[in-house]
Amino acid sequence: MNPDTVASELLATMWNGRPLPVDPVQIARELGIDVVETALPDNVSGALIKDEGKDPVILLCNSDSKNRKRFSCAHEIGHYAYRLATNGAHYEYIDFRSEFSSKGNDPEEIYANQFAAELLMPAKEVRSLYNQGLPAFLIAQHFGVSDDAIRFRLKNLSLAS
Ligand SMILES: [Zn+2]
Repeated sequence: MNPDTVASELLATMWNGRPLPVDPVQIARELGIDVVETALPDNVSGALIKDEGKDPVILLCNSDSKNRKRFSCAHEIGHYAYRLATNGAHYEYIDFRSEFSSKGNDPEEIYANQFAAELLMPAKEVRSLYNQGLPAFLIAQHFGVSDDAIRFRLKNLSLAS
């Protein structure tokens, strides 16, 4: 299933009428995923762990910035959605910082990144703000994402070069 569709359906059912920015931690918890902020090795940005018979757990790095944690959490929910679609009962997924970009060809990574972008920065809303002439840094603030994340999103939506 298309990650954009899955993320926007999730928002429509779970974040309908709630104020932005979207809180991915709350969404994860409402999906039955535990979210734990903890000390992680320097080279790890986040992880999703599911042991058989237990709730899945998302691990976030407690020394990361607020925006970074929001993105990591949304990204890990993307892994969760991907695993649901592929029926995994037991899995462990660790995201390494160094591989974040180099794994650009891994279908699950692409899925998780696209999912996270749509969850945190819904295309419809981004287009609307952009068309109102709002500068990128204010759009970023609106969605609680970094300037880099919004620039990347605008580019992917063909709104900026
Ligand atoms: Zn990942």
